[in-house]
Amino acid sequence: MKEQKTDFDAIVVGSGPGGATVAKDLALSGKKVLILEWGDNDPKKGSFLKTIPRAFVPGKSVVMTQQLLPVVRAITTGGSTMLFCATAFDPPIDMLKRYGVDISVEAEEMKNDLPIAPLPDELMNTGPQAFLKSARDLGYDAHKLNKFIDSSKCRKECQLCMYGCPFGAKWDARRFVELAMENGAELIARARVQKVIIENGKAVGVEYKHNMGVHRAYAPKIIIAAGGIGSPLILRQSGIKEAGYNFFFDPLIYVYGKIKGLGNGKAVPMSAGIHFAEDGIVLTDFNLPHMLKVAFDLEVLKVRQAFSYADTLPIMIKVRDELGGSVSNNGWVNKRLTREDNQKLDKGAEHARRILLNAGATDIYRSYKVAAHPGGTVKIGDLVDTNLKTGFDNLYVCDCSVMPQEWGLPPTTSIIALGKRLAKHLLAADSVSEKQDRIAAAI
Ligand SMILES: Cc1cc2nc3c(=O)[nH]c(=O)nc-3n(C[C@H](O)[C@H](O)[C@H](O)COP(=O)(O)OP(=O)(O)OC[C@H]3O[C@@H](n4cnc5c(N)ncnc54)[C@H](O)[C@@H]3O)c2cc1C
Repeated sequence: MKEQKTDFDAIVVGSGPGGATVAKDLALSGKKVLILEWGDNDPKKGSFLKTIPRAFVPGKSVVMTQQLLPVVRAITTGGSTMLFCATAFDPPIDMLKRYGVDISVEAEEMKNDLPIAPLPDELMNTGPQAFLKSARDLGYDAHKLNKFIDSSKCRKECQLCMYGCPFGAKWDARRFVELAMENGAELIARARVQKVIIENGKAVGVEYKHNMGVHRAYAPKIIIAAGGIGSPLILRQSGIKEAGYNFFFDPLIYVYGKIKGLGNGKAVPMSAGIHFAEDGIVLTDFNLPHMLKVAFDLEVLKVRQAFSYADTLPIMIKVRDELGGSVSNNGWVNKRLTREDNQKLDKGAEHARRILLNAGATDIYRSYKVAAHPGGTVKIGDLVDTNLKTGFDNLYVCDCSVMPQEWGLPPTTSIIALGKRLAKHLLAADSVSEKQDRIAAAI
């Protein structure tokens, strides 16, 4: 065991949007931050081959439920934002307020800091345009969606978003990690945290595996941001046994149709959508990268369709699932879709079918299910308080796991705003204790 007695002010575990935001804001305020990240920090190349070890390794980045539904995340610096489609839905401000957490100021700050806007028409290929037009013709409230994308750097006929945009157009949490490092933070990649070291009810450090050895690092503040599956595992190992139960993961399917002569090509996925808020259903266009579409098609034995791309109009249906299930101690996910969850997927698929038929599609079929937003495993009001503090002093959680309930929309804006709010809270608490120390010294 290698002990690392350090002068870090904080250790952040995980570098997705939750961890990267806290690390960046603390570092910008002069705090010494250590970031421990399980995945690599190799350069972004926008390559499918490079994405495989980050996002498609069974038991690590892809875990199956007992219904063989894959839950996908990315294990790399920047977390799942290296894979995400960069759609920026507004955070559920009112829902969080009901739990005593107000992120309205931080959500506004985020909008000023990041390139959040819809894509211009010229960056939407014929598929997304056809989806939008057909849905509007039918009277759906379909509109362009906000994206974390700087459209001045985005390229037409490109689909590298999900492989890690190499052109600097798509925002991902690595940007915040880099900013943190430019301001003195240290990143140790390929460091998998096992547990938090607790002494007399206080978190004092973490134990992690790195380079075949077990190491310990210490700091007065520990922030666990290992994501909806990773954080509850670390907390359980640290004595918070109730973590990792009763969660959501927003299951989704794709419905495809063939439109002869559509000429759809590569495009940013999820550029337009329809939100059925009451039903908990979202429909969007979804130009999957070709290799991923092949994989989804082969899964449902659509061999001929797997090689048809330009004539295909794909629509994604994502639903708000009911809370349930448990994360097992080895990181697998036990969760069954309920009858209501499946009915929502069917209802969404029926809307998609109408839109496809209206656009002139034939040969309509659906993919198998997948999920990509695990959260609610360490809920606010249950295992963390409104400042995201656990029952142990100095131990905080900041990622999708703290979401107090299911709401069925992509969560990254909310996680960034929560990260900003936590950093402010930690900085304010520090300045109070520094002031108290100065008063005590003066007396
Ligand atoms: C394909 C796909 C598309 C998506 N599209 C969108 C979208 O368009 N819009 C949107 O808002 N959201 C989208 N999401 C969801 C979004 O990416 C996630 O909800 C978000 O990244 C979760 O942030 P997080 O900080 O909770 O966790 P993560 O981003 O998963 O980050 C957790 C980090 O912790 C690290 N880690 C895990 N365990 C350990 C450990 N033991 N020790 C050290 N490090 C550890 C991981 O490697 C990872 O870097 C998408 C997700 C996927 C998979």
